[in-house]
Amino acid sequence: MTVNPSHAHRSRSRVAALFPAHARVLRAVLLGCLVALCAGAVPAAGPMRILVVGGHPDDPETCAGGLVALAARAGHEVACVYLTTGEAGIEGKGADEAARIRRAEAENACRILGARPVFFGQIDGATVVDKAWFTRMRELLERERPDLVITHWPIDTHRDHRACASLVYEAWNTGGRRFALYYMEAMSGHQSQNFRPTDHVDIGEVLRQKHEACFAHASQGITPETYETSMDHGHMERFRGIEAGVTHAEAYVRQDQSRAIDLAALARPVRVAD
Ligand SMILES: [Zn+2]
Repeated sequence: MTVNPSHAHRSRSRVAALFPAHARVLRAVLLGCLVALCAGAVPAAGPMRILVVGGHPDDPETCAGGLVALAARAGHEVACVYLTTGEAGIEGKGADEAARIRRAEAENACRILGARPVFFGQIDGATVVDKAWFTRMRELLERERPDLVITHWPIDTHRDHRACASLVYEAWNTGGRRFALYYMEAMSGHQSQNFRPTDHVDIGEVLRQKHEACFAHASQGITPETYETSMDHGHMERFRGIEAGVTHAEAYVRQDQSRAIDLAALARPVRVAD
């Protein structure tokens, strides 16, 4: 590509007149992008803001921990939102003590996955779906400005999971449908029902990391043994892997009216090395 020097000088003068002095940095960035495009380089896509909203500590990890680990490793900003703090989830412990223990477990799990924990403030086993909580969920999502939200599949035997799905769906639907909305499964057959995946994500590369995050929830009895037997998480990963033609996978359903996002592509690094 050749440029007439005098023409280029006139163009630069016009640009200088258009931009005030304090906008020199912006001009430099724009010029850099122009040079990169002329050289045929494809600018790296920026990081996405991803929220995984689950009913209890351990739901984002067991349902979507592989995707969370892959996306965080690739450079996306991922947060796990916990609708409740698991107050009712430890037999023999009061609500406050159980919440303290489960909050610490969730924070540890998020550290392992590279995600940020967010606690929404509802009470385990006593979740509320009403106008005030719709508003709070909508406010949270407006604050977080996500590109993608993944939450519980709405047909589930656990009412806290159904409450979670309902609050997120309402926020998405009445908030202008500004983010992509996908659903995750929780122990399909036992909890999620009628779940027919539209998307699969190969989680083989981060399987151990996902499992460590799940095992961080020791108060829930999630161990290498129960993960594979009574809780069936291991069976689900292998079954979804069979569907996807890989060893282990997670499955998701896209909300029909949501824009589509290539979930598998979230594993690709968002920044191109120099
Ligand atoms: Zn749950």
